[in-house]
Amino acid sequence: EFGSFADVVRAHAAERPDAGAIATVDRKLSFAELDAYGDLIAVGLQRDGVPQGEAVAICGLNGWAYAALWLGILRAGAVVAPLAQSSTPEALALMIEDCGSRLFFADRAIADTVDIPAGVTFVPLDEEAGFEAWLPEAGATPKPVAIDPGDAFNIIYSSGTTGTPKGIVHSHLMRWRHVTAYGGLLFTPQTVSLQSTPLYSNTTLVNFLPCLGNGGKSVLMKKFDAREFLTLSEAEGVTTAMLVPVQYKRLLAEPDFDSFDLSAYQMKFCTSAPFAADLKADILKRWPGGLVEFYGMTEGGGSCALRAHEFPDKLHTVGQPMPGHDIRLIDEDGKEVPQGGIGEVVGRSGTIMKGYHNRPEQTRATHWHDAEGNLYIRTGDVGRFDEDGFLQLMDRTKDMIISGGFNIYPSDLEAIVIEHPEVEEVAVIGVASEQWGESPVGVVVGPSDAEAVKVWANERLGKTQRLAAVHIVDELPRSAIGKVLKRELRESLNL
Ligand code: ATP
Ligand code: MG
Repeated sequence: EFGSFADVVRAHAAERPDAGAIATVDRKLSFAELDAYGDLIAVGLQRDGVPQGEAVAICGLNGWAYAALWLGILRAGAVVAPLAQSSTPEALALMIEDCGSRLFFADRAIADTVDIPAGVTFVPLDEEAGFEAWLPEAGATPKPVAIDPGDAFNIIYSSGTTGTPKGIVHSHLMRWRHVTAYGGLLFTPQTVSLQSTPLYSNTTLVNFLPCLGNGGKSVLMKKFDAREFLTLSEAEGVTTAMLVPVQYKRLLAEPDFDSFDLSAYQMKFCTSAPFAADLKADILKRWPGGLVEFYGMTEGGGSCALRAHEFPDKLHTVGQPMPGHDIRLIDEDGKEVPQGGIGEVVGRSGTIMKGYHNRPEQTRATHWHDAEGNLYIRTGDVGRFDEDGFLQLMDRTKDMIISGGFNIYPSDLEAIVIEHPEVEEVAVIGVASEQWGESPVGVVVGPSDAEAVKVWANERLGKTQRLAAVHIVDELPRSAIGKVLKRELRESLNL
C-alpha cells in the first residue's frame, strides 16, 4: 500500500542509519544524516511560512544540499520545483513566478543572472555556510503533515526541446509507483548508482528517487565528465547508472575505456533521445552488465522498455510496452492506425501526470480517448510496431519534413549521414523550399568539406530524401540533458 516518499526514506534511516545514501566529491551523507537534513529543511520551510502544497524552486548543479532539499521539501508536504540550470535568466524568472515559490534555492552564479521576482527569498545552494545559515538549529523537528496519494510531489518544467516550458505536475502516487515498481528488483540496499545527469530532469529522477526509496546509494556528479565518470565507477564499485545516448558515446570514445574495471556494473539504463543500434551493440560488447533502454515522456502515459542484453536483434527498437502500460498509434484524425501502420504514439498507465501546472487547455491537448473513454496521453512521437510488438520510433511529429507531398523522417536520413567516415554528429532539419514546400538539410560535426558529404549522402539516400544542403558546425546545440535543440539550430544557422 501507499507510502509517502519522506516516510519511506525515514524507514531506511531507522533500519540502516549508517548506510551511505548520498556521496559527492566533498560530502558523504548516511541515511541517518540525510534524514536529519530532511527534518531541518522541513522545519526551515515551515518557519518561513511555506504551506503544504506550495512549490519550492531549486536551481543548481548536483550536490548533497540539492539531494537533501528533495527530501526536506517533501517532508514539509511542499512540492519540489527543480528548474533546469541551462534555462535563460528570463525563463528562470518566469518559472519561479509560474510555480509560485516564495524561496529560490540556487547556485550563486545562477542567481546572480536572474531578476528574482519581488518577495522571493534567495538561499545559496552551493555555499555551505550560506545554506547552513538558513537551516534551523540542529535537532529541530517539523510539524507532521499527512500526504494523500493524489497530492503533488513535484513540478518539472518540460525540457523545452520543442517549445515553451510547461510545468508537469506529478503526484505522490506516481512516484510511489516508480519506487515500488523497481523495488527489490533493480534497486536494492546494495545498489550504488552514479548520477551524472542533472537533478532537475525526470531522466535522473526515475533513477535517483527509486534508488533512494529502496535504500540504495547515489553518487552524485556535479557535471558529467567522461574520465571522472569512469574513475568514480571503478572507485565506488558502481552497480548501475542512467545515462543519455550522447554520454554513452563519449564514454566509449575515451581512449582507455577498456582499461577501467567496470565489473561491479549489473545494469545500465538509457532514455531521453534516439539511441543508435550500433551504440547499444558496442555497449553490450564492452561494458559488463545488462542494458535497458526506456522510452517515455516526463508527462508519463505509456512507456516502453528494451532489455537490450536479452534482445540483441531488436536494438533498432525501443522495446515493448512495460507491464501495465498500453500503447496505441493514431493518425491525424485521431483514429487508430491498422496493425503494422505508422502513427502518433499515445499511451496509458498508472503513471500519468496530474497535468500541466495552471494550463488546463494545454493539458487537454495532450489527451486522447479510446472507444471506451479511457484516457491516453499523446506523445508527438511517430512510430510503428514490428511483427513482434516492438516499437520502432521514427521521429517527433514536429520534426517530420513534408517534401513534395512525401513524409520524410529526419532520423532515417541521420542514420545514413552518420555512416560517413568523418561525420561525428548529425541533425537533419526541414527548411522552407519554394519547389517542394520543405526540404531536408543536414547539419554535421566533423567533416571539413560540406559539399563532399552532401554528394556522398545523396548517393545513398532515396530520391525524395535527398539533402538540399549540408552545413558544418563545431557542435550541435543541446539541452542540459543532452537533447539536440533543432529549433535553436535552425535559428543559429538562419534557416
Ligand atoms: P518538450 O516536451 O518540452 O519539447 P521533451 O519532449 O524533450 O521536451 P521529455 O519529456 O524529457 O521532454 O522527453 C520525452 C521525449 O524524448 C519523447 O517524447 C521522445 O521524443 C524522446 N525520447 C524519450 N526516450 C526516447 C528513446 N528511448 N528513444 C528516442 N526518443 C526518446
Ligand atoms: Mg515532450
